Amino acid sequence: MSTAEIGVIGLGTMGAALALNIADNGFDVAVWNRTAEKTQKFHEDAGDLASRITPTQTLEELVAALKEPRAIILMVPAGAAVDDQIAALRPLLGRDDMIIDAGNANFHDTNRRVREAGDLPFLGIGVSGGEEGARFGPSIMGGGKRVYWDRVAHILEAISAKHDGQPCATWMGEDGAGHFVKAVHNGIEYADMQMIAEVYGIMRDGLSMTSTAIAETFAKWDKGPLRSYLIEISGKVAAATDPATGQPMLDVIVDAAGQKGTGRWTVIEAQHLAAPIPAIEAAVVARNLSSQRDARAAGEALFGTAPRHMPHETLSLATLEQALIAGKILCYAQGFGMIEKASDAFGWALPLPAIAEVWREGCIIRSAMLDDMASALRENPDRNLMMAPKFAALLTDTHNALRQTVAQAALHGLALPALSSGLAYFDAMRTARGTANMIQGQRDFFGAHGFARMDGGEGHHGPWGS
Ligand code: NAP
Repeated sequence: MSTAEIGVIGLGTMGAALALNIADNGFDVAVWNRTAEKTQKFHEDAGDLASRITPTQTLEELVAALKEPRAIILMVPAGAAVDDQIAALRPLLGRDDMIIDAGNANFHDTNRRVREAGDLPFLGIGVSGGEEGARFGPSIMGGGKRVYWDRVAHILEAISAKHDGQPCATWMGEDGAGHFVKAVHNGIEYADMQMIAEVYGIMRDGLSMTSTAIAETFAKWDKGPLRSYLIEISGKVAAATDPATGQPMLDVIVDAAGQKGTGRWTVIEAQHLAAPIPAIEAAVVARNLSSQRDARAAGEALFGTAPRHMPHETLSLATLEQALIAGKILCYAQGFGMIEKASDAFGWALPLPAIAEVWREGCIIRSAMLDDMASALRENPDRNLMMAPKFAALLTDTHNALRQTVAQAALHGLALPALSSGLAYFDAMRTARGTANMIQGQRDFFGAHGFARMDGGEGHHGPWGS
């Protein structure tokens, strides 16, 4: 019988959690998974929610279980699996039936899929918050035609996280706008995580703090301006003990971080857009570098261990907290700046304040600061976030702490790629007369590219001689 309001394909970590969330919010959901046994097991384990879930063994059965016009969410790995699934599904669907790709698609792929779908309904939605978010309320960034979003908005809003009762699910714009915003979210996430890891490094190697003391510090910061999911879990990670050895969990984890590509996509896209996001770029580079463990060990053997240890009075924990506050503002300012550039370049009119709002709950970068960021962007979405009065005041109070932290870390051989990139961005953005006049002189010297003069006029050439 066709009773289900929505379908979910892919019962992996995210799809299973999302299907339960949909059922939990009172919607009947039909599910299908490539490996049929998983579907059965999923249904058996669904407990009270099983009555709202229709498990299906074939795509035909899934389609037959859905009310018309149908809406089917794909939660499969990004890339070929999505195209294959669309190709398998489309011939079974009617002209008004909608496919929604909720995986981490590259937004260029979503642009293409929207084009290929033509008049057939298709949405690309970014879903953030990991398994827990998918189960109990993710942040959802929608892209595609607004009319298609409106058809399923009541379900997506119901299952999303809420901030003061407001759903963290918003339509971002046409085509791949939702997946684009999700990619920038992930880029910011990389930088936020990297900055926290850098401060952790100072506490561990510079100040010789125990994991317990580090955990307590993060827990304390989680009660102040830095309050956020990432600070909270960093404290919990630092507090955990390895059951096998009794050592701090962090001490038994290999120092090489993986990535699935969304941070890299953000950085590549930022280069295409000429959008300066140095802290995010530095964070992606840091992950790449982290995987070169043998080379790093060889470097340490060749050049010797850096001094690292610093007397306790060198940097106070309050200074580190302030440095992280400044770094965080600068990293978000870069991310929102990139979104603004993309908005112009792609003609999307991306809603910057609404983006800050959907990130306030449910997603990995949720933080107390996003509330003020949403207000600042609502006041003036075109202004660099670091210039908004609230954040300008915070940066005025904290940038010297960031400077001290970066300087002391440099003196003690501790690498802070993201925090130092943040500081360089801040200093560049507060320098009215920079040094690109030298670049222009060089370019004109070797390539006769011409330059603009301070006293007016374009296309001048210098008296360089030969
Ligand atoms: P997962 O646990 O590995 O599950 C993947 C699911 O896709 C499984 O149900 C699998 O079916 C199915 N699948 C794999 N290849 C397929 C194919 N070629 N055709 C049809 N079905 C296929 O992955 P996940 O973590 O749920 O991630 C799903 C999507 O969400 C990805 O795009 C991911 O990037 C995105 N995402 C993940 C997270 C996260 O925290 N995990 C957060 C946000 C977004 P079988 O059971 O048959 O293998």
